[in-house]
Amino acid sequence: MEQKTELQTTKTKRNFVKDSNGHWMCDVPTCAYTAKAKSGLKYHQAAIHDINVVWTYCDVPGCNYKAKKASSIKPHKTANHNVEVEWFHCTTKGCKYKTKYPGSMKSHQRNKHDIDVVWYSCGVGDCKYKAKDSGRIKEHKRMRHDIDVRWYHCDIAGCAYKAKKGSSIKSHKKLRHKEAYAAMLRAKDQKDTASAVDLLMSAAVPVDQSTAVSAVAQPLPPSVVIEPIGESDQPTRNDLLTPPMPPPVPTAMPSMQPSLEMGMGMFQTQNWANAFDL
Ligand SMILES: [Zn+2]
Ligand SMILES: [Zn+2]
Ligand SMILES: [Zn+2]
Ligand SMILES: [Zn+2]
Ligand SMILES: [Zn+2]
Repeated sequence: MEQKTELQTTKTKRNFVKDSNGHWMCDVPTCAYTAKAKSGLKYHQAAIHDINVVWTYCDVPGCNYKAKKASSIKPHKTANHNVEVEWFHCTTKGCKYKTKYPGSMKSHQRNKHDIDVVWYSCGVGDCKYKAKDSGRIKEHKRMRHDIDVRWYHCDIAGCAYKAKKGSSIKSHKKLRHKEAYAAMLRAKDQKDTASAVDLLMSAAVPVDQSTAVSAVAQPLPPSVVIEPIGESDQPTRNDLLTPPMPPPVPTAMPSMQPSLEMGMGMFQTQNWANAFDL
């Protein structure tokens, strides 16, 4: 049997460096963490990167559990190996329920045997509804008696439909207002495209000119038509979205999303860097 109780004590030496603010920098690539005290950095590295951790192992045969804190072992053993567990047994005759947690016993007895139950009642008119938790009463009042209901209304002119759930409005529109529903989806689509253009704008700036030129321009979806950028004009979002003269759009459109390549393609101009005032 493998001996797991011994502690790992060998530590690797790290050569920490300070940043310009005099803070110690984490030397794990891609990690930007800094700490005022070296001990803080060591703690961070152990907690986040498992560096120089002194592990404590569960000593139950066959268990691979290890923890960074020795104090985590006991609760682990209680929860997983029933070591030093004080069992709570249900006192109701014939019930075999047992649990490690007093809170669980309370809710078991409440739910299964109606022991110590605080009943909440509806109280509307002569409604006899009662429940073991107040949330149920609220829900009941909303659904049965229209109390505290937040109504959702169909926003199509002339339609009086209202519902207690937002999702009902959506399915109502899909069913009763097919055209409006389709338009709504299109609008949502355009919004997505607009944010994609934002992405392209920001992504295009730091790109090296040679890679920008080698990128392949792709056909654009009808909602986004992008013109080549002139020598001196700074492109704006509006320019990208609504140019004065849209180029012809291919009839067979592959299902496509604006991609980064496309973004590079649209900056294929000798002076694209000037255009961004670099
Ligand atoms: Zn780090
Ligand atoms: Zn264990
Ligand atoms: Zn019981
Ligand atoms: Zn009621
Ligand atoms: Zn409607």
